[in-house]
Amino acid sequence: MPRRTQVGIIGCGPAGLFLAHLLARAGIDSLILEARSRAAVEGTIRAGVLEHGVAALMQELGLAGRMLRQADRHAGITLQWRSQRLHLDLAALTGGKAVTVYAQHEVLKDLVAARLAAAPGSILFEAPARAVEGIEGDHPAILFETAEGGAGRLDCDHIVAADGFHGIGRGAIPASIRQEYGKTYPYGWLGVLVEAPRSWPELIYASQGDGFSLLSTRSPTVQRLYLQCDPADPVEAWDDARIWRELGSRLATDGWTLTQGKIFQKSVIPLRSFVCAPLRHGRLFLAGDAAHIVPPTGAKGLNLAVADVLVLSRALSRAIHRGDASGLDAYSDTALARVWQAQRFSAFMTRMLHRDPGETPFDTRLREAQLEQIALSPAAATALAENYVGLPFPAED
Ligand SMILES: Cc1cc2nc3c(=O)[nH]c(=O)nc-3n(C[C@H](O)[C@H](O)[C@H](O)COP(=O)(O)OP(=O)(O)OC[C@H]3O[C@@H](n4cnc5c(N)ncnc54)[C@H](O)[C@@H]3O)c2cc1C
Repeated sequence: MPRRTQVGIIGCGPAGLFLAHLLARAGIDSLILEARSRAAVEGTIRAGVLEHGVAALMQELGLAGRMLRQADRHAGITLQWRSQRLHLDLAALTGGKAVTVYAQHEVLKDLVAARLAAAPGSILFEAPARAVEGIEGDHPAILFETAEGGAGRLDCDHIVAADGFHGIGRGAIPASIRQEYGKTYPYGWLGVLVEAPRSWPELIYASQGDGFSLLSTRSPTVQRLYLQCDPADPVEAWDDARIWRELGSRLATDGWTLTQGKIFQKSVIPLRSFVCAPLRHGRLFLAGDAAHIVPPTGAKGLNLAVADVLVLSRALSRAIHRGDASGLDAYSDTALARVWQAQRFSAFMTRMLHRDPGETPFDTRLREAQLEQIALSPAAATALAENYVGLPFPAED
């Protein structure tokens, strides 16, 4: 039985869910097709830092109840190198802005629950999209597999592929017009979740000893820690003793001890930068990780996905309500301008904080000089802070 909606969305990640809420606010009907189960979507551990504008958007959309009760506002971060810590006062450097530390899967739980409460049946889980058709005409459709294993069809006016890096959407843009830019870094991140109290009041981005580490948090009793590692490392290569030894040395500073606890989750992720252009082909639009990936050092991936769909929702609203396609025509350029700024910042943070396997002592000193410049120059500190809390969203015409 074919279904019909105004905007068919592939993927129930941050991009797809924020888009569905923004469209609903604009009075536009949408349906999300998601390959995985609701439990898998709500249980995948990923990002944790929300830019100032994303947290504000959650409030504006009436989705921030739990976030406001449970999340932490961080008005500063700490940078560490050569056992020295530098407090970067984000709020003072950006006119009062801050980030919110609230795990991505908690955001997703809030957005899924609110969407299904407002529009029951508007997300189909375990319904993977297999192909899109008709995107160059006026009647596109998504062909998908139903949860029962049958063949489904979703007819729509517009399709948004918010299906992440491994989705099917990007490949539907013909290779002859699709440009892809990318870089894979020679290091990855080992991420662990730990049952322990906080060791430090704010996030610490450290570059010391064998490379990068990040001390982050999830709650007063659960901490999130990351270590630069070989991206080919199996998780088993990192037993708990090795993890604590490395974290201890990469975060060591006089008069402070890292609080240890039970490690209950470990994963290794590769680091890559990737951009696909354009973000539109006919009636198909790409948003979020489907179109671009940033290394997580700048905490930008989720935030960029939200910025994309904010621009796209306005453009779809103008096209659907006023018959004016100018926003859709401009979507790719408008979104990509912000994407490239985030790519620049993420690559800058990544290079400054990671030890390249082929690094010479000269290279190490250059990276440390970059960190020292942030300590010495208010202009350098402000540039980092402005990008970290998030550049303004593109203005509405
Ligand atoms: C360890 C780690 C730490 C990170 N830290 C941060 C951070 O601090 N801050 C930050 O901003 N970002 C961070 N990120 C990045 C962030 O998690 C991603 O950028 C974000 O999830 C992108 O959202 P998305 O909706 O575009 O894609 P995704 O979250 O990947 O969602 C895509 C969805 O589409 C579904 N899908 C795929 N194919 C199909 C199909 N064929 N049919 C139907 N559904 C499909 C997938 O199952 C998935 O649910 C981090 C990432 C990792 C891995």
